[in-house]
Amino acid sequence: MTRRISILGATGSVGISGVDLIRRDLDRYQVVALTGGRNIARLAQQARDLRAEIAVTAHDDLLGELRAALEGSGTIAAAGREALIEAAARPADWVLSAIVGAAGLAPGLAALAQGGVLALANKESLVCAGALLRQAGKAAGATILPVDSEHSALFQALQGETLDSVKDVTITASGGAFRDWPLERLAAATVAEASTHPNWAMGQRITIDSASMFNKAMEVIEAREFFGIGPDRIKVLVHPESIIHAVVSHHDGGSIAHLGAPDMRHAIGYALNWPERRPLPVAALDLAALGSLTFRQPDERRWPALRLAREVMAAGGAAGAVFNAAKEQALDDFIAGRIRFTDMAPRVEATLAALAGQPGFGIDPASLDEVHHWDALSRERTAA
Ligand code: NAD
Ligand code: MG
Repeated sequence: MTRRISILGATGSVGISGVDLIRRDLDRYQVVALTGGRNIARLAQQARDLRAEIAVTAHDDLLGELRAALEGSGTIAAAGREALIEAAARPADWVLSAIVGAAGLAPGLAALAQGGVLALANKESLVCAGALLRQAGKAAGATILPVDSEHSALFQALQGETLDSVKDVTITASGGAFRDWPLERLAAATVAEASTHPNWAMGQRITIDSASMFNKAMEVIEAREFFGIGPDRIKVLVHPESIIHAVVSHHDGGSIAHLGAPDMRHAIGYALNWPERRPLPVAALDLAALGSLTFRQPDERRWPALRLAREVMAAGGAAGAVFNAAKEQALDDFIAGRIRFTDMAPRVEATLAALAGQPGFGIDPASLDEVHHWDALSRERTAA
């Protein structure tokens, strides 16, 4: 039986990897919806290659261009936020959510409502609305599978285990572009310098978030949301080689690590084939060639975002939505040259402190509107 598949954010770094896996095995799949942003040529090419039912750009003004690019292909063209949510809600067995930012939340919820599998790369939606996503998934009988490499690694290492026996879990971080920079140089770091990653080829936003460790901070919260593990049992370890992605340590002294080449097609493919494992086009691990793997404790003076993540988890309620939106705004401001690299964390921290006194801050957002309320307040408070 062919499985119906959709990819939200198909034109991005994770989306392209997802499209690559589907293209190699096209007989097994019926591609429903592909969505993208401004790169219409890529979106149209993907839709043709995968014979998608519908292709959607998030931008209304690009509908004409998308229509023209899809002429004669049999794929429907659509544009805009509403169209994107409608496309996500088209019946599908498996949906990859690979949009970047809080913009992925509404389409992710629409996909979940169908009760299939939501393969979630869009960690921002879990950080800003973890409780809402879980409830929506439960109500629809849907399954949410992790696609972030560390969380896929944890999920795999936890197969057959119960959380009671787990002492703690560790997710690794490469340390990003500024791992070895002298601390006093960080204030002068440029956008171009922050946009290079030692091991992974990713979208610009997550690459800069890797340099600041806001990405890892988000992932600690993501781990709490996915696995229900208390914040004090989630650790971060700097591992420059990015070969071990996560470790589960048990009370009996045994630890189970997940290793693999830094290639997102493994985590995406695992979620695609779950609960089976099938061959994937991922390089085999050659430990002898690697020779050694190294580790160090993260320095919270270099990466204050890690401390903020713990504060967000301790606060609960709307703190995740505020944190994510403040981080997105601070990142926009850094990319636009309005603030320095080292200004991002203090700005996020100031917004969290300022909004913590607002009525309802301690309560989990229970609807998309409530998430948007906190998101908008947070961006406004953070904007440079
Ligand atoms: P990217 O910037 O390369 O791609 C983002 C995709 O989302 C594109 O298709 C873009 O058109 C679309 N998009 C952007 N803004 C949108 C909006 N407002 N509305 C609708 N669509 C929009 O990003 P990426 O690196 O592929 O990351 C995607 C998600 O996966 C992020 O949540 C990221 O944190 C997560 N993730 C990425 C990697 C990686 O290796 N790149 C690894 C783990 C997790
Ligand atoms: Mg990750």
